[in-house]
Amino acid sequence: MKLVVANHKMNLTKEEVLSYVDSVKDFASNTVEFVFCPSTLYLPYFSSLPLGSQDVSYLKEGSLTGDVSAKQLKSMGVLYTLVGHSERRVKLHENPEMIQKKIENLLNEGIIPILCIGESIDEKEQGKVEEVLDRELAILSSFTKEEIASIVIAYEPMWAIGTGVLPTNQEIENRVRYIKEKVSSLYQVSIRVLYGGSVNIDNIDTLEKVSNMDGYLVGGASLDGPRFLSLMERMR
Ligand code: PEP
Repeated sequence: MKLVVANHKMNLTKEEVLSYVDSVKDFASNTVEFVFCPSTLYLPYFSSLPLGSQDVSYLKEGSLTGDVSAKQLKSMGVLYTLVGHSERRVKLHENPEMIQKKIENLLNEGIIPILCIGESIDEKEQGKVEEVLDRELAILSSFTKEEIASIVIAYEPMWAIGTGVLPTNQEIENRVRYIKEKVSSLYQVSIRVLYGGSVNIDNIDTLEKVSNMDGYLVGGASLDGPRFLSLMERMR
């Protein structure tokens, strides 16, 4: 069953969120497992739905004004948390040590981390994609096999996020295979790999032909409830 993760980022006002929840609350599917990652502010409005968060503090607990701990997320029913999204790596200078601590905190609370990895356009043009994936996957080395097996990877080329420009199906298939084989050869475990970057209703039928990925991370196209449901209905 595919895993589909909606990443709302900083979008939607309270009124918009209330009508969004109303439009998706009765959705059920035999073909996809879906998770909503609203702005942290709105987590309580999504309590009747499978809940995810967009981030977690790298500190376990204590004093860090504005942050939210893994324990707090757990207490709100969060099942999955995005970690290492490229927007945070680039705009907030999140480093591998912080990302590693975030994953550790989540695993300690039984929340499934979704580790986002992927190259910039420059790195792609310089032929460095596998080097970038290796570097970003190196974070896994501090965890046990059992822990690694529970982590989800989201392959998100930075140049595809919010741009409407997608890799070819062959490129996605190659990257997903590379990630799976790398993790399997290093740690002897199999993991789920999602694709993220400009997934929408116009390209989903093409993307669905990629045979080896385990789901999608969807930003912009998850912001309209009914349209997001239509997108998921096209997935198998
Ligand atoms: C994202 O930011 O995780 C993402 C996939 O965004 P979009 O679908 O808008 O490209």
